[in-house]
Amino acid sequence: MIYNDFKGLKLSRLGFGCMRFALKEDGEVDQEKVDKMFDLAMEKGVNYYDTAYPYLNGKSEPAMAKALSRYPRDSYYIADKFPGHSLPGPVDNIALFNISLNRCQTEYFDFYLLHNITEWSVKIYEDPAYHIMPDIFRMRDEGKIKHLGFSFHGGPELLEKLLTKYEGEFEFVQIQLNYLDWTLQEAKEKYDIITRHGLGVWVMEPVRGGKLAVLSDEDSAKLRSFPDYTSDASFAFRFLQDLPNVKVVLSGMNEVFQVEDNLRTFEKHVPLTEEERNTLLEIAEGLKKGVPCTACRYCCKGCPMGLDIPYLLQCYNDYKYADSLTSSMRLDALDEDKKPAACIGCGQCSHACPQGIDVPAALAELAELYAKGPNWAVASKGRHDAIRKDLNMD
Ligand code: SF4
Ligand code: SF4
Repeated sequence: MIYNDFKGLKLSRLGFGCMRFALKEDGEVDQEKVDKMFDLAMEKGVNYYDTAYPYLNGKSEPAMAKALSRYPRDSYYIADKFPGHSLPGPVDNIALFNISLNRCQTEYFDFYLLHNITEWSVKIYEDPAYHIMPDIFRMRDEGKIKHLGFSFHGGPELLEKLLTKYEGEFEFVQIQLNYLDWTLQEAKEKYDIITRHGLGVWVMEPVRGGKLAVLSDEDSAKLRSFPDYTSDASFAFRFLQDLPNVKVVLSGMNEVFQVEDNLRTFEKHVPLTEEERNTLLEIAEGLKKGVPCTACRYCCKGCPMGLDIPYLLQCYNDYKYADSLTSSMRLDALDEDKKPAACIGCGQCSHACPQGIDVPAALAELAELYAKGPNWAVASKGRHDAIRKDLNMD
């Protein structure tokens, strides 16, 4: 296993993401399978296990804890997350935190994250009425959180702002990073910002929900032509291993063969050759279905509606690759007169665009995609109900 030093801790570079455990026909977690996967992971040195309050509707935390309870507490690290983005309103944050501690059968979290910060959810996290930041900082100061971070789905501008504002409070940031999002979701910029601020980068979605683990026959053949080929997924992981500030790569594993494949890939660091890396980035370009916006902002000055065109086009590109709840949250964050439907189709932007992008057409399509969903307001209804029930609020 490849390890990293993080503040004196020896962290396995492969982390076990617990959001995708296999379920049995009755809807319960297949604990036998989880135990087997954890045994394999523990045997090969994986010591980082990541869950979150809402994963599998609250079934991930106890299933993870059950599997880990067969091992000494000091042989692994637990990471969990505070569901600020899913709150039905201001709640007893400490009570919610304690529910997670109980479900995880632990007195403390080695790593704890504010879950899913975006331009929309940051308003909740920072709202004094919700009192989230002071409560979570208190849990850290009382020793119940050893290392504090946040998972982030927003843009570079917000990330820079947060890391400047909360300098010294957070130690790591978890971002969606893979060779596709390196450019599609501005992950390179985010990686650089986190690194410049001296924090560790934690990676989620290293294979983009499995899409980079099973490429088209044509793309897969390009990778198979390299002598170091073991699987499509291994190339995605090796891309991340080459980034020195990536401390932990979380892989949501639900099948034994995935665990075995990942363990093979993380046994030792085999840097990508220049040709392999270029091939991956070429494959990424081919996977993109959106518009080639470079965020130069030449178009913004002349927009009579004052729209943040590159921001909107980034959401558009994300939607075009795959429907995304986080993109809908990023659009939710905008005032109505700044949403894609506010575009009046004057075409000023397209005249200014060196990439020749038909911006009004893309924004009209984005407005339609956004209206159709997936919709965070609808998706969060079930989450609100679950939290109310857990806190006996009804
Ligand atoms: S077409 Fe839409 S986005 Fe472009 S300048 Fe006009 S209002 Fe702004
Ligand atoms: S001018 Fe074109 S490439 Fe530049 S930000 Fe606007 S849409 Fe993107």
